[in-house]
Amino acid sequence: MLRDNHGREVDYLRLAVTDRCNLRCFYCMPEEGIDFVEKSSLLSFEELLRLIKLLAKEGLRKVRITGGEPFLRKDIMQFLKALTQIEGIEKVAITTNGTITARYLDELEAMGINSFNLSIDSLNKERFFEITKRDLFDTVWSCFEEMVRRNLDVKLNCVVMKEQNTEDIIPLIELARNKKVAIRFIEEMPFNGAGRTRTVLEWDYVKILEMVKNHFGRVEKLVDPKHSTALNYKVPGFIGTFGIIPAYTRSFCGTCNRLRLTPTGLIKTCLYDDGVFNLRDLMRASATDEQIVAAVKQAIGHRYKDGFEAEKARVKNPSISESMASIGG
Ligand code: SAM
Ligand code: SF4
Repeated sequence: MLRDNHGREVDYLRLAVTDRCNLRCFYCMPEEGIDFVEKSSLLSFEELLRLIKLLAKEGLRKVRITGGEPFLRKDIMQFLKALTQIEGIEKVAITTNGTITARYLDELEAMGINSFNLSIDSLNKERFFEITKRDLFDTVWSCFEEMVRRNLDVKLNCVVMKEQNTEDIIPLIELARNKKVAIRFIEEMPFNGAGRTRTVLEWDYVKILEMVKNHFGRVEKLVDPKHSTALNYKVPGFIGTFGIIPAYTRSFCGTCNRLRLTPTGLIKTCLYDDGVFNLRDLMRASATDEQIVAAVKQAIGHRYKDGFEAEKARVKNPSISESMASIGG
């Protein structure tokens, strides 16, 4: 079992397979002028499979594929198939924007991948366009409907932003009235690739919850799963649930079981750190299996207590300026 210096078990890898995307969600990346990484700088699928096999022997159990948009990476399906076959990996989940995902659902289900976080920040076509800069709401919506039709485990991710989509909070929760879906509201973080920061987050989890309670009268607090980043709730009588992720307030760090790997092989033990070391460089310097495992254990053995400590310790880029797509959300 991989355990950090604060006694937290680490069994979950969030793997960003690409930094490329076909949307331009303004809270994630600027519309123009993005320098996407060269293909040769990406960890290859062979390198990733070697690494995950090694970590699975040490106790890694769950992998989330994210990005950028994972389905834009060539040969992703072959990689996913090989990933699901690694001994010890019990769950593979995917975070996707749903623009090209639907066509892969048959194959994904056949591999045993049935857990998806689908990002949809608005149910209104115009607002969706304003946020993502692409006119693809209908495509994303039909992907969602198809996932529900197939009875997949689907969570809808919505980043809540002042003057952008707060009017979508209630309609999104309404989707859970008759559908087995979990709606998750995420506090906006400063990982927008444009260096825009703010000192006060107006729409934090308290304000989101307040709005929901004011509308529905009563909401039921659910028992949160062990490593849940979301505070989970249910409107009485609804089939689905909703949750709020205090991603900026960072109140969930105490139970964090996650490790992150960026598309270029930077290992991150916290979303807010600026990268601990580069695994790709180590692997390409002909490191042995033992050296790779030792390096990962060394990183896990020196984790920050929480996201505030990690942010304070940033050296390379003291103020957050990277895009979430280059980290993996
Ligand atoms: N392209 C895929 C998608 O959008 O689902 C996967 C990658 S995206 C970076 C993963 C998640 O991070 C999405 O749900 C997105 O809304 C969230 N995200 C991106 N930038 C964020 C930010 N600045 N603050 C909070 N969440 C963010
Ligand atoms: Fe692309 Fe996802 Fe970032 Fe939106 S949030 S720009 S879909 S990577």
